[in-house]
Amino acid sequence: MPLNAIRADIRARTAYPVADVSADVLKLDAMEAPYPFDDDLRRQLGETLAEVMINRYPAPAQLRQVRQQLRQTFNIPETAEIALGNGSDELIQLLVQLVAAPDAVVLAPEPSFVMYRHNAELYGMKYVGVPLNEDFGLDVEAMLAAIETHRPALIFIAHPNNPTGVPFSHGDIERIIQAATGLIVIDEAYGAFSDDSFIRQAGQPEHLIVLRTLSKLGFAGLRLGYAAAAPAVAGELAKITPPYNMNRLVLAAAGFALERFDIINRNVAALKLERAQYAETLAKLPETHVFPSQGNFIVVRLPDAQAAYQKLIDHNILVKKLHGSHPLLDNCLRLTVGSNDENNQVLRVLNLAVQEWRESRQPATTGSGGHTGKIIAAVIALIAIAAILWFVLAGAPA
Ligand SMILES: *Cc1c(COP(=O)(O)O)cnc(C)c1O
Repeated sequence: MPLNAIRADIRARTAYPVADVSADVLKLDAMEAPYPFDDDLRRQLGETLAEVMINRYPAPAQLRQVRQQLRQTFNIPETAEIALGNGSDELIQLLVQLVAAPDAVVLAPEPSFVMYRHNAELYGMKYVGVPLNEDFGLDVEAMLAAIETHRPALIFIAHPNNPTGVPFSHGDIERIIQAATGLIVIDEAYGAFSDDSFIRQAGQPEHLIVLRTLSKLGFAGLRLGYAAAAPAVAGELAKITPPYNMNRLVLAAAGFALERFDIINRNVAALKLERAQYAETLAKLPETHVFPSQGNFIVVRLPDAQAAYQKLIDHNILVKKLHGSHPLLDNCLRLTVGSNDENNQVLRVLNLAVQEWRESRQPATTGSGGHTGKIIAAVIALIAIAAILWFVLAGAPA
């Protein structure tokens, strides 16, 4: 079979699952922004894209211009160079390729972004995951010990972390940067929603790379990620980046978006307010624990995450079920922060799910005063059933 020529470990894998949902499903599983451009901006964007010479390969001048816009918009220091990727996913892959060798190690806290492990394994490297604390904080001592033991060629720290959203302390990450024996990537995919960033330190020290993306800011469909790195590191990255990895349409659209960054900033500010309000309301749900988040998503621990997830699906809402993916994520769901109306829809269904869970646990004691009659009827019915069972199982007396 010619297929046998394909690596056995690849054949044993499953592809990254992307939800294939109909347009009427409320998609809150992938941290997409809820604010599309308005009609006027979309028309202007269309006019801009109409000018793009798609018969020509992307030109260095276009790349330079987008890099310059990114530098200005995001205050990237002059000491760092900017590498562009077809999503930061591509940059993660390229960064792993830079260090890939049979005995080399990629290290990251766990649970974290699944593509770190995926790429490490794909390129034949050893992957070491260091468990987070129960509260999803960084176990900095365990990280430092693992660095000393495994001397990783590459460390990934998502800050804020995905899928948990819980912020790490800047000082803890500093200690890990100091201890790193190879490259270290601070993945700030959610940097715009966070109070903390390493962007000003990108490339200083030389092994520190800061990774970012436009995806969570409203442009997931564009696929534009960037890495701010020391010139020496960026130079090596350039050698293995496929030529023309950034297409002309993306570059033009990103340029258009970055020229209107005030709109994006307003959306980010609005989303951070939504996040605060959403977290506060979620915390009022009975039996529900809300983890603090610095991303555009919130992780909750529910009494029965599987049932709540299914109930959301039944209401045409898709969130991310973390339950089952890592022991620390037991009974957790990850909710992308959407618009106010979208978040309220989720809250209503979660409230239903939690109430149902309570009723299923305490059938005779739930309900308020108005339901007393029903409760009495239920108790009588239960006694009757118990009596019948007793007769059947114990044998009816002669
Ligand atoms: C979403 C995400 C990415 C991938 O972003 P793209 O630019 O869309 O490829 C990278 N890292 C983390 C931590 C993410 O959550």
